[in-house]
Amino acid sequence: MKLSQLFTKTLREAPADEEAINAKLLIRGGFVFKNSAGVYSFLPLGWRVLNKVADIIRGEMNAIGGQELFMPALIEKKYMEPTGRWDLDVGYFAKPKNEKEAEFVLGWSHEEVLTTIATKFIGSYKDLPFSAYQIQTKFRHEPRAKSGLLRGREFMMKDLYSFHTIQDDLDKYYIEVKNAYHKIFERCGLKAIYTLAAGGVFTDKFTHEFQVLSDVGEDIIYICDKCGYAENKEITKRKNRDKCPKCSSKISEKKAIEVGNIFNNGTKYSEALGLEFTDEKGNKKPVVMGAYGIGLSRLMATAVEVHHDDKGIIWPENIAPFKAQLIALDQQQIINGERQIKKEADKIYEELTKKGIEVLYDDRDNKAPGEKFADADLIGCPIRLVVSKKTFAQDSVELKHRNKKELELIKLSEIIKSI
Ligand code: ATP
Ligand code: MG
Repeated sequence: MKLSQLFTKTLREAPADEEAINAKLLIRGGFVFKNSAGVYSFLPLGWRVLNKVADIIRGEMNAIGGQELFMPALIEKKYMEPTGRWDLDVGYFAKPKNEKEAEFVLGWSHEEVLTTIATKFIGSYKDLPFSAYQIQTKFRHEPRAKSGLLRGREFMMKDLYSFHTIQDDLDKYYIEVKNAYHKIFERCGLKAIYTLAAGGVFTDKFTHEFQVLSDVGEDIIYICDKCGYAENKEITKRKNRDKCPKCSSKISEKKAIEVGNIFNNGTKYSEALGLEFTDEKGNKKPVVMGAYGIGLSRLMATAVEVHHDDKGIIWPENIAPFKAQLIALDQQQIINGERQIKKEADKIYEELTKKGIEVLYDDRDNKAPGEKFADADLIGCPIRLVVSKKTFAQDSVELKHRNKKELELIKLSEIIKSI
């Protein structure tokens, strides 16, 4: 993509009403636009990042048998009433102008919708287990929407639901999801800590959060200094603990961001909505269910909180909007009657693109070198390539990694190899 064509621009200042680093940098870099408190548009650069996160998640969900689907954002009252979740304060209600009562809530979680769908297809133990997921916008009434994309009123979530005949089978799948989650966060450049959490419907035994350490995190977790066991504050308080329950070592208090969580819902939803199956002996039983969430937009914001410096974002390799930002300097220079440096930069851009390397090409004529460098640092692609009078004279380009200081001169013929 050519920067001269990109309709968004970087900004020198973030809006005064944004406190969070993630929002400041994402807005300044032209990744997102703040429409309202807690409501953001994903601009072309930001949408690329979000889609990279989505693709990583898809790959890992498909690998554990998750079947992707897409459910409505408008959820009718009849779905939520049986579980007692219709009236909860978390919802935004979609109220038609001429009707007194809202009959729809904007989806903030989809257990009821998918469980109801499943009642039409699941009847026998032979139909189980299965799991299905979607990647979709969720809407939640979040009074404290002030952490940028960490806490939106509207945000992107992956929600997976699994359906089993017995708890034992759910427990096994739970571990598969746990492992898949670790792969997802690692591929996205984040170290997530598997943390025991309260809030399970029937038991706290199998409810966990994935927490990324960060001072801007709204959660407090306790981690064992020795064995790494972690639990959230609610559990530590409830159990009145002052040392690790596994190895009795000292535990440390840390702030963290919850990027994902996994729940054992037991038969809460299946019983309320009549999702039953017939077992081998002909007995009818409620289906045992698990639910597993990841906030994609929160994950993206977390990556920014964890990976940035005073100049801008330092994207983890796999979720960067582009692998490299190519900067052309001295473009106007005429050599032997031609704009040869510009021609050279165009050629490099085309060759890299042809080879499938994603490049953001700063071909803008009206920008000073300092501005181009500042923009590359702000946007945060892993590699910066510069073509200039100096590099042209040496048949080379200058390469710099966003997270390193050193500059290297690379021969034109070696670029692909070096990247
Ligand atoms: P929190 O305790 O932070 O409010 P939650 O327990 O309500 O999170 P879930 O309902 O389980 O979260 O949602 C699954 C995932 O969706 C969370 O782990 C988080 O990554 C993300 N998420 C939840 N609420 C928001 C929000 N308001 N904005 C962005 N992401 C969110
Ligand atoms: Mg919440």
